[in-house]
Amino acid sequence: MEGKRSKKRKRAKRLKFQNEKDDSAAVEEIDERKEEEESAACAFAKRPKSQGLSKSSTFLEKMRARLSGGHFRMINEKLYTCTGKEALEYFKEDPELFNVYHAGYQEQMSHWPEKPVNIIIKWLKDHSPSLVVADFGCGDAQLAKNVKNKVFSFDLVANDPSVIACDMSKTPLDSSVVDVAVFCLSLMGTNLASYLKEAHRVLKSRGWLLIAEVRSRFDPNTGGADPKTFSKAVCELGFTSIFKDFSNKMFILLYFKKKDKQTSKKTKEIEWPELKPCLYKRR
Ligand code: SAH
Repeated sequence: MEGKRSKKRKRAKRLKFQNEKDDSAAVEEIDERKEEEESAACAFAKRPKSQGLSKSSTFLEKMRARLSGGHFRMINEKLYTCTGKEALEYFKEDPELFNVYHAGYQEQMSHWPEKPVNIIIKWLKDHSPSLVVADFGCGDAQLAKNVKNKVFSFDLVANDPSVIACDMSKTPLDSSVVDVAVFCLSLMGTNLASYLKEAHRVLKSRGWLLIAEVRSRFDPNTGGADPKTFSKAVCELGFTSIFKDFSNKMFILLYFKKKDKQTSKKTKEIEWPELKPCLYKRR
């Protein structure tokens, strides 16, 4: 006879493979497995069953984890639906929220078969270490920690001394000083065009713009943006599209190079497609 657990696993598998394009489905799959483990929405609240916890402490842990998970989802939604300036103020008022966000983010990432930041790290390792890099929305600065290059790491809160805290639409860098600008799952604000504009400003001509974004945000079948329209808008800012990779189930990669000549339009004159927020569902 088929057990409840194996049925659940099968359903989770089905969800995963039927909805390859839908990251929220993948999140749902993760949630189900976690429920089985009586585990948590947050990695730090996880503890193996074998420690013989009493029923009540397991229950408390579960509740605490659910609260943290809910908190993460709330902060995540906030970041996708406000401007960078508002997000900066939000975290300034309570920097602890940034840690809650990142604990939840790391938990979600731990279930992705491949992390986009590792693809970008590999790309940098395959190129000259003399390339100067700007990591826009660096999180815990994994990029800087794993390459030999000089990396300027920017985020709303500096949770590492190497990180420069700022709204990335206004970095403290001079113009034309970096060879590579990276946005790894960080095009979150409603003013994301101004982040790309800033990357264009700080990049040297023929410098690289590397974007990794959540796949569902670029799936027109589920209300996402058309990647072609997005690419076109980025090109109008003064870039040439060099490489696109849609092979990963969770994220897409779009690589551009800054044009030699100043042919860029103003961001307001460009028609930017709306990138829908990447919201994580609660079961
Ligand atoms: N690039 C990292 C972290 C991705 S999470 C990685 O791949 O692991 C997205 C990050 O972008 C968050 O840390 C968030 O705080 C940051 N971010 C979002 N909007 C920002 C803004 N306007 N300015 C600076 N950082 C921003």
